[in-house]
Amino acid sequence: MDFSLTQEQQMLRDLVGNFVRDNVIPLEPNVLAREASGQRKSLTAEEHGALDDKAKALGLYGLESPEEFDGANLDAVSMVGVFEELGKTAVDYFFPPDSPNLHMLMQTCNDEQRQKYLEPYARGEATSCIAISEPGGGGDPAAMTSRAIEDGNGWKITGRKIWVSGAANADFVILMAVTDPSKGSRGGISAFIVEKGTPGFNIAREIPMIGGRKTYEIALDDMKLPGGALLGELGNGFGPMQLRLSRRRIEMAARCAGTTRRALDEMKGWVKQRKTFGALLSDRQSIQWWIADAEMQLHALRLMVYNTAAKIDRGEQARTECSMVKLMGTELAWDTVDKAMQSFGAMGMTQELPLQAMANHVRVQRIYEGPSEVHRMLIARHALQDRIPGL
Ligand SMILES: Cc1cc2nc3c(=O)[nH]c(=O)nc-3n(C[C@H](O)[C@H](O)[C@H](O)COP(=O)(O)OP(=O)(O)OC[C@H]3O[C@@H](n4cnc5c(N)ncnc54)[C@H](O)[C@@H]3O)c2cc1C
Repeated sequence: MDFSLTQEQQMLRDLVGNFVRDNVIPLEPNVLAREASGQRKSLTAEEHGALDDKAKALGLYGLESPEEFDGANLDAVSMVGVFEELGKTAVDYFFPPDSPNLHMLMQTCNDEQRQKYLEPYARGEATSCIAISEPGGGGDPAAMTSRAIEDGNGWKITGRKIWVSGAANADFVILMAVTDPSKGSRGGISAFIVEKGTPGFNIAREIPMIGGRKTYEIALDDMKLPGGALLGELGNGFGPMQLRLSRRRIEMAARCAGTTRRALDEMKGWVKQRKTFGALLSDRQSIQWWIADAEMQLHALRLMVYNTAAKIDRGEQARTECSMVKLMGTELAWDTVDKAMQSFGAMGMTQELPLQAMANHVRVQRIYEGPSEVHRMLIARHALQDRIPGL
C-alpha cells in the first residue's frame, strides 16, 4: 500500500507547519504566562483575530467546505497533515469551520438549512456546537432521555444536557433528543438545530475544565422549535451523529500524533544536553527505551491514521478504525508527554514549558468523544464477532 502524499498534500502540510511554527508557537509563552498568573489559558481575542486573518489570507479557511461556498473540499487524507501540524502546539487553535459539525450538516441539511446554517458555517462566518451528553450518560449516548414531542406547531423539547463545549457563544447548537423512546438509537433519536437565544434553551452552569477549557450544562425548559428545526430524517439522527464523532476521532488522532512528535522533539533536544551522574541522559537505556517505544508507536499510529483516512475517502465504513486511532493517539500522546515531562525533571513541572499545557489538553481527550475504555469495548465487540476490518 502506498502511503506517500501527493505534491499538493505535502505542500498543504508544509504550509500549515510553517504557519504553526511562525505564528502559533510564538504565542505559547503569552498563553502559558496567562495561565500561570491565574487567568484563562487561551488566546486573547486580538491574538485569535490576528491568527484568523493570517489563516484566511493563506487560504486555510474552509479546507473541507464545499466548493460552492468557496471551500477547498479537501479529502480526509489531506486533512491528516493539517491536524498533525496543529497538534504540535500547546495553543488550542483550529481553522474554521470546525470539521465534525460541518460533515454532519453536509449530510443532513435540507435546501433551506443549507442556505441558512451550512453556508455561513462552511464559510467560517458562523459558529456551532453539539449537545449530546446528559447527566445520566455521555459515554453511552443511546441512554439520553431529553425528549422532543411534536405538538402540531413544531417541537417541544424538555431535558438536560451537560459538558457542552462552546454553548455560550455558538450561533446555533446541534441538539440530539429522543423522538421515539420505544426505538432508542435505532430510529428513536433525532437531531435539531437550535438558534442562539431560543427561549427555553437555558445555560444552567458554566463548568471550568482542566486545561483552561469551559463546558456548559444546559436546561431545556419546554423549549419550542419550529418544524423546520429538525435536522435530517425524523428518528435517524444517530447515524449522522456517529459520522460526526468519527470525524472528530480521526482528527484527534492526527492532532495527538503531532503532539507526540512535539513532545518527543522537546525530550530529544533536552536529553542530548543534560548530564547527570557524569553522563548524558541520552546515553541512559531507560531514556532511550522511552524514545524508541514512542517513535515506534508514533510510526504505527500515523500509518493507521492515514489508512483510516483513505478508507473514509473511499466511502467505506471506518468506525472501528476511528475508535482504534482515537484510543491509540490519545493514550500515546498522554504517555509520551508524561515521559517528556519526567525527562526534564523539575523543569518539566514548571508552567514555563508547554509540556504541562499539552498534558492537560491530552488528558481531557482521553474522555471526550468517548472514553478509552468505551473504545476498547467497541473494538473488542468487533473482534469477538470476527469483524475487525482488514483481517
Ligand atoms: C473537555 C470536554 C468537552 C466535552 N464537550 C462535549 C460537547 O461539546 N458535547 C457533548 O455532548 N459532550 C461533550 N463532552 C462530554 C463527553 O463526550 C463525555 O464526558 C464522555 O463521552 C464520557 O461520558 P461521561 O462523562 O458521562 O462518562 P461515563 O459514560 O459515565 O463514563 C465514566 C467512566 O466510566 C468508564 N466507562 C464507561 N463505560 C465503560 C465501559 N463500557 N467499560 C469500561 N469502562 C467504562 C470510563 O473510564 C469512563 O471515563 C465533553 C467532555 C469533556 C471532558
